[in-house]
Amino acid sequence: MSEYDEHEAVASGPIPVLAVIGRPNVGKSTLVNRILGRREAVVEDIPGVTRDRISYDAHWNGRAFTLVDTGGWDPDAKGMAERIREQAEIAVSLADAVLFVVDAVVGITDADAEVVKVLRRAGKPVVLAANKVDDERTEAEAHALWNLGLGEPHPISALHGRGSGDLLDVILEALPEPPTEEDPVDAGPRRVAIVGRPNVGKSSLLNKLAGAERVVVDNVAGTTVDPVDELVELGDRTWRFIDTAGIRKRVKESSGHEYYAWLRTSTAIDRAEVAVLVLDAEESIAEQDVRILQAVRDAGRALVIAFNKWDLVDEERRFYLEREVERDLVQVRWAPRINITARTGWHIDRLVPALDKALEGWETRVGTGALNSFLGRLVAERPHPVRGGKQPKVLFGTQASTAPPTFVLFTSGKLDQGYERFIERRLREEFGFVGTPIALQQRVREKRKRR
Ligand code: GDP
Ligand code: GDP
Repeated sequence: MSEYDEHEAVASGPIPVLAVIGRPNVGKSTLVNRILGRREAVVEDIPGVTRDRISYDAHWNGRAFTLVDTGGWDPDAKGMAERIREQAEIAVSLADAVLFVVDAVVGITDADAEVVKVLRRAGKPVVLAANKVDDERTEAEAHALWNLGLGEPHPISALHGRGSGDLLDVILEALPEPPTEEDPVDAGPRRVAIVGRPNVGKSSLLNKLAGAERVVVDNVAGTTVDPVDELVELGDRTWRFIDTAGIRKRVKESSGHEYYAWLRTSTAIDRAEVAVLVLDAEESIAEQDVRILQAVRDAGRALVIAFNKWDLVDEERRFYLEREVERDLVQVRWAPRINITARTGWHIDRLVPALDKALEGWETRVGTGALNSFLGRLVAERPHPVRGGKQPKVLFGTQASTAPPTFVLFTSGKLDQGYERFIERRLREEFGFVGTPIALQQRVREKRKRR
């Protein structure tokens, strides 16, 4: 099961993003764990090792937001103030609001002052957490943080939970209201993330797309556009390409470079509805490509795969590419694939139909009646294998949400993974679901014991 299975479905609108920033050791990871209620353990820092998980689904008072933990970089590197400034810049460019964590016991350091400069310039809402205020005695230290000039410091103890509820209330106030599922009208242009390794042709693709028709932002009603996004007219409609600044900007090589690239990719996927994974068709499919695919699946986003540089693909390469696709892309056999040459614009017009198809699959809803007659047929066709003298049965199913399609199956016992895969495969054969991951959740009905 992928990780979004475990959560209640969240609204499909753009979920607001909160970035957590601060120096190493101020307690960011502890605070993130506290906010998540330890539902998902944040991996401990191993110096020099970057974490894969950067963003987490958080909930408070019935509202959902995405928490981006920027703490996963090597704190031993030289030029820490510079690195922290860079971290803060990326965080503010990606997030709707920033949670700035300061160690109240240590007080304001030079690195903190650097961060303040960035935050002031960005003009995004900032919530200031004065951490490690474990008791009333330390509270006075928190007051000293008024001197940062960022407004009220909120004293908390990430370790013990002190003040964290109040802090979350303040965070929700700072974040924009996400649109609810009943109110999808204002969702605005479709949000697309172009993702892929360096040099696969992302910016070439974006340039070709944007070159066609660049939209003047003011002309699109009801949209506030993040400066890092770009609105592009394609196929008579406006699309929002997420974090194009990250694609266009050639980030300087530095030791944190790869981590920042991953941070951008991961956040762009979270903010998007559909991801376009650009692959260099001339090169072998790499582990990094698969890692991005996994991130798209885990985030539950729609997916289109674009094999770029098709002008460089000859018969022989084609032969090997087909084998690589069989081997490395089996998990996403459902994703529409297009072959393009971004450099010349060849087949670029195939992108919009592929995006449409993927988004349609992503938002497909199957009625409860149709679903259960399908499940009935399916169980008759192939019952679950007997396990330890018992045979788990699917009693009833319902589609809990779309975007991505999420199904809840009520069963008399835990279903095998193999049987789950069978159900998913048959669901796709029957209802389409092109371009989208499918989530299956099981609710096992407890049998009452006979007396
Ligand atoms: P990060 O590097 O900013 O992610 O910091 P961590 O979350 O890893 O915390 C660094 C250290 O500070 C750990 O030893 C934590 O246990 C400790 N710590 C975090 N929050 C608190 C707190 O509220 N009070 C105290 N006393 N220690 C804390
Ligand atoms: P990005 O790092 O993913 O944004 O990749 P770029 O768009 O900067 O492209 C990397 C290199 O690949 C550049 O030299 C491009 O000119 C080249 N490139 C991009 N698309 C194509 C293509 O379709 N065919 C060929 N032959 N080269 C391409």
